[in-house]
Amino acid sequence: MSGYPDTQLHINGLWRDGSNERLSILNPASGEIIGRVSNAGSDDLDKALSAAAAGFVEWRRVSAFERAKILHKAAEILRDRSATIARIMTLEQGKPIAESKAETAGAADTIDWFAEEARRAYGRLIPPRSINVRQMVVKEPVGPVAAFSPWNFPLNQAVRKVSAALAAGCSIILKGPEETPASCAELVRAFVDAGLPAGVIGLVFGIPAEISNYLIPHPVIRKISFTGSTVVGKQLASLAGAHMKRVTMELGGHAPAIVFDDADIDLAVKILAGAKFRNAGQVCVAPTRFLVQGGVYDKFVDGFVKAAEALKVGDGLEDGVTMGPLANARRVDAMEALTSDAVSRGAIVRTGGKRIGNRGNFFEPTVFTNVPQDARVLNEEPFGPMALISTFADYGAVVREANRLPYGLAAYAYTTSAKTSAALARDIESGMLSINHHGLALPELPFSGIKDSGYGSEGGVEAMENYINSKLVTEAI
Ligand code: NAD
Repeated sequence: MSGYPDTQLHINGLWRDGSNERLSILNPASGEIIGRVSNAGSDDLDKALSAAAAGFVEWRRVSAFERAKILHKAAEILRDRSATIARIMTLEQGKPIAESKAETAGAADTIDWFAEEARRAYGRLIPPRSINVRQMVVKEPVGPVAAFSPWNFPLNQAVRKVSAALAAGCSIILKGPEETPASCAELVRAFVDAGLPAGVIGLVFGIPAEISNYLIPHPVIRKISFTGSTVVGKQLASLAGAHMKRVTMELGGHAPAIVFDDADIDLAVKILAGAKFRNAGQVCVAPTRFLVQGGVYDKFVDGFVKAAEALKVGDGLEDGVTMGPLANARRVDAMEALTSDAVSRGAIVRTGGKRIGNRGNFFEPTVFTNVPQDARVLNEEPFGPMALISTFADYGAVVREANRLPYGLAAYAYTTSAKTSAALARDIESGMLSINHHGLALPELPFSGIKDSGYGSEGGVEAMENYINSKLVTEAI
């Protein structure tokens, strides 16, 4: 017995099945069916929408002080249940149990941080042109939110949307990830058990396109937040635009990691390899294009290959496993297709490059060098355990390569030169740049992309702003 729970929808304060046939959940480490998730039809979505409309009326009137208390309570509940939730997450998503525990702890921290921000959504007074006028900017919740969160971080992708929305005073309907629903449902359960009024949070699962096509244009919904691929993000942003809905889009990336001759190479290898293979590379901010200066190239490649080969790949519940399976069979197919395309164009596989066995979705940690620029993997987000290492001639060339793709989410650099760091901070086209360490995705930091990686932040005070309208009130006195 896996102990994996079936997952229901949460609508208007009740856990219940949907009107469509339930969907199966597979364990990516074994390929076996471990549970089922309820599947919403349009009648269920109608109920969720009415509940969200009523929930918004109620929640916006709850003081920020009281909202913060409920959010803090939800964080506490999540921490108390973290061992159970982490196990559920590893069963459905595959990541090593230590990563699932860290994700649960991180989710609780995120809720706590936004709970405090609820109390700091300050407006402002603007000095008037006449002493007989008072001008105020008042911060108001934007309204019921439709949020779409993916399967790579079942808790953390959802918690950023839910916490910011609730802190701001919005109600929210979350469409959770159908392939990894149970840990996401535990997040919602923590809020419900913390005392959130019925209707303030809804959880639905189903056919993603049917749900987004129904929710986004619906007049009850005032704000959309989506995390996923750029191609889907563009479709949803277009639909939201046609209905004049506010949007946050956290989309794909293809992060450059630039290593200069003067860098601490051991540190760079350790941190970058850790970041590359975490969650089997299914991370939007994963470093992918490793651009290494000539003087340290061989040392970096050797170190990186050793780090990849030192990983223990296996079932995330087993002791000592440091990389789990890919979350679904689509990713293994994608890894095989990207590998054969790169190799056919002359890329060298330094390690990995093959699926492991035929049970579960295991793929070897893979390092390529000599990848030609027209290879698909140098242009499409691999979203898997693949590192592409190349060298560069000079500063201008590496910045051109770093900025070459339409993506602009994360970027990394290793150098001991303050001048180079400052120049990179100016020149790199990305929403986030982390230099000499891996310092992204903390709740207090903005988390956002530019270009095809999307817009709107999922962290920091910027994230709260996405769920807030600024209303001007001007009054003659
Ligand atoms: P996909 O593009 O079909 O789906 C990506 C996510 O979007 C999934 O969670 C899916 O449920 C959702 N989705 C798809 N179509 C939708 C629609 N019409 N309306 C609402 N939601 C929709 O691909 P996939 O195979 O699930 O994932 C592969 C790609 O997605 C990856 O290569 C990666 O680029 C991207 N992805 C990005 C993130 C991220 O953190 N930014 C997370 C997961 C997936």
